[in-house]
Amino acid sequence: MTSRNLFLSISTLAICATVISACETMPTAEEDHAANKHTSHWEYAGESGPSHWAALSEEFSTCATGRLQSPFNISADITAKLPDLGLNYQAVPMKIINNGHTIQADQAGGGQLVVDGKAYDLLQFHFHAGSEHSIDGKAYPMEMHLVHAAKSGELAVVGVMLTEGTANAELANIWANMPTSQGEHMVKGKTINVKNLLPASHKYDRFMGSLTTPPCSEGVNWHMMQQPITVSAAQIAAFKAIYPMNARPLQEENNRLVVRGQ
Ligand SMILES: [Zn+2]
Repeated sequence: MTSRNLFLSISTLAICATVISACETMPTAEEDHAANKHTSHWEYAGESGPSHWAALSEEFSTCATGRLQSPFNISADITAKLPDLGLNYQAVPMKIINNGHTIQADQAGGGQLVVDGKAYDLLQFHFHAGSEHSIDGKAYPMEMHLVHAAKSGELAVVGVMLTEGTANAELANIWANMPTSQGEHMVKGKTINVKNLLPASHKYDRFMGSLTTPPCSEGVNWHMMQQPITVSAAQIAAFKAIYPMNARPLQEENNRLVVRGQ
């Protein structure tokens, strides 16, 4: 998939997220152009579950044929001094979407990730239960993905594991306004700052991978934080009451390189 097509896919995802009911019944001009068919319905279990994603739509074929699919069990192939992540985030008005697959916060204008001199605009962040990746064989109760795109369309994700402990105040702010059924929820006068959802240490593991949801597009630059953030048992339970399990199973690592930052 070209980076242009990748960008169209992500734009389409964003559009689907905001008008999901229209998206499922009616192809957008972008989808017509990109894939000549509209987005198929997919789920995390049953006949539309992960092992069937590639069969649901030609557009999803990479879910089966890709060689750098996410998630997988992350273990270091080498350790090295990695460039610091420029996590240049700022508060934006709260806009939370239950898109039928996850709870997502739209972050247009929420700042940038800068790494290796390249800037990626923050688009959105969302959550999975349980964690999608494991780190050295260890799974977590939840995982958060901060999704970014460069002007070229190239994608970068920052992953953060959520472990049980002290409640996170920013998450409490989000959870208090979490739509329990599908649809968008804008909260007047409230803001979200993703900076408050990052661990104290910004050390990370770097590797290449894919989107973990259809169309499973590859060429995604992944940065997995080594330190989890803590959330309370009640916060985990509140998410799981809406999405008990929205994690793709582990995929093969194949011969990709995992660099663990020192
Ligand atoms: Zn995700």
